[in-house]
Amino acid sequence: MPKITLPDDRVLEIPEGATGLDVAKMVGKRLAKDALAIEFEGKVQSLTLPIEGDGKVRILTFEDEGGRDALRHSAAHIFAQALKRLYPKAKITIGPSIENGFYYDVADLKVSEDDLRKIESEMRKIVDADYKIERVDWSLDDVKAHFPDNPFKLELAKELAEKGCKLTAYKQGDFIDLCEGPHVPSTGYVKSFALTKIAAAHWRGDVKREALTRIYGTAFPSEKQLKQWQKLQEDLEKRDHRKLGRKLDLFTFSDLVGSGLPLFTPKGTTLRDELVKFSEELQIRGGFRKVWIPHITKIELYKKSGHWDKFGEELFLVKSQETSDEFALKPMNCPHHAQIYASRPRSYRDLPIRYMETTTCYRDEKSGELSGLSRVRSLTQDDGHVFCTMDQIRGEFENIMRMIKDLYSTLGMSFTARLSFWDPKNKKAYLGDANQWERAQDIIKSVAHELDLDHFVAEGEAAFYGPKIDIMVRDAFGRHWQCATQQLDFAQPSRFDLKYTDSDGKEKTPVMIHKALLGSIERFLSVFIEQTGGRFPLWCAPEQARVVPVSEKFVEGALGLVDVLRKGGIRAEIDDSSESVSKRVRKAQIDQVNYILVFGEKELEGDLQVRTREGEVFGPVSVEDFKQRLLREIKERK
Ligand SMILES: [Zn+2]
Ligand SMILES: [Zn+2]
Repeated sequence: MPKITLPDDRVLEIPEGATGLDVAKMVGKRLAKDALAIEFEGKVQSLTLPIEGDGKVRILTFEDEGGRDALRHSAAHIFAQALKRLYPKAKITIGPSIENGFYYDVADLKVSEDDLRKIESEMRKIVDADYKIERVDWSLDDVKAHFPDNPFKLELAKELAEKGCKLTAYKQGDFIDLCEGPHVPSTGYVKSFALTKIAAAHWRGDVKREALTRIYGTAFPSEKQLKQWQKLQEDLEKRDHRKLGRKLDLFTFSDLVGSGLPLFTPKGTTLRDELVKFSEELQIRGGFRKVWIPHITKIELYKKSGHWDKFGEELFLVKSQETSDEFALKPMNCPHHAQIYASRPRSYRDLPIRYMETTTCYRDEKSGELSGLSRVRSLTQDDGHVFCTMDQIRGEFENIMRMIKDLYSTLGMSFTARLSFWDPKNKKAYLGDANQWERAQDIIKSVAHELDLDHFVAEGEAAFYGPKIDIMVRDAFGRHWQCATQQLDFAQPSRFDLKYTDSDGKEKTPVMIHKALLGSIERFLSVFIEQTGGRFPLWCAPEQARVVPVSEKFVEGALGLVDVLRKGGIRAEIDDSSESVSKRVRKAQIDQVNYILVFGEKELEGDLQVRTREGEVFGPVSVEDFKQRLLREIKERK
């Protein structure tokens, strides 16, 4: 009888031929009800298949990727079955599960959004029929017999057969598809599903090959989960930073300037500047000093630093018309900063030396990969480099990590720290000596503990030149974004022959720490705009107050108030357009202006009634008190 080991190390003896579903039932009723697939010796398989031999098993539910995939890939088969009933001439190709759902690529099919609803109804019938989903062994001849006029399935099957793979199919009711699984036991498992989108695709993702129609869909174990997901999609769409960027007039793109090269409007620039100012304040408090470097450099610098090979075709090259020198637009700042370090002799007493600079780098990303501010070709980092001794790295990592904590807690965002270490089974792939690595990783781990960071270790994720901490910021929708980072570098200081004179008079090589708090400002903005939905906190809001005079007669007084507020350091504007007062107030709220001041007789006398963008009203309050209140709120960055 096979012996299986459960995740909690319990060992169970199971009868010969017992399936995943049998195992799930032995473990627990509840688990058997939620089970969608089973992992046996690291491989996900259908619950209906027997467990063959001894090994580790894990029951997979919707909480596990393998469970979700089984459910959603089954939904893809149900879609294909429904489609073939309604469109017998359509040729189905491939239908994998993806993050958040599945798709199916189909040839010879024309459908509209309305048709998707009809297909969904047909899918519902298949789910209600609760057909068993069974695996069948196939030969190449079976594929030919079942798909006589489908060259796509045949091409796949031939390739698999050539590779020596066993061909299998999955059957449900009158439908059968070439497929290696895994699947849920029956169509009734797919309780809630939706077809979400129609898109264009090509066979094998190759534009030179047949054009296909891609239908996207998703599936959940319950109606409630589906509804929640649909609501989230609506919210995300409303908050899409590209949409909000246009609506709130924060940034724009121009075909003449080029793709992936955002232009920031006055409002967007204010937002950027405020975020950068905060980051720089934290760094200056932490002992960093600002430097400045030009944006082009001779390519020799990057040949020496190793970036020439690393960035390759991503480098923008610049030719001098005066000399024969070849230049590149900088893709990183470290080599420049290293040159500032190298500009004079350094003693151990000078260390640590901390340089900071918010500056733009240029990388020639493929235009297909560019998207809003998330992927751009001009990216600005709040970059910084520390040059220090091995003994100082604990203090430096702590110092930088405190800045990161301060920054993100003020921004109302939580994060997880990924400690990216080397792969202990492949030490040869890394530069520097083993002791140094072990020591640095121990220090990083203890810093994470000391600062009580939510963290995890990721072996094999280190750069070849040193271990690092990547900060994965969680946004309002539970999505993770890699923003801040700090990385140890054992390689660059020696490439540039950086030195300091130690207390014993000997010349030694410092280590280098790369750090960024916001990371790429553009990418961070894309996250922050979606996180806030454009409702920026007062301290970084592009327009903090708007004055709305009730009539022509009060424009002069309103302008006076704007002037007082501006001189006091508040970003105030006037809206004296001819719209009604209520319309202008509404517009200010849509524009996400933090405070709105309707200006009439009372206000002329100095008593302000203040309205927030949420519609709350307070007052009367004097101009001076209002100003002080805002300045306090700004200073505290609430
Ligand atoms: Zn399949
Ligand atoms: Zn760097």
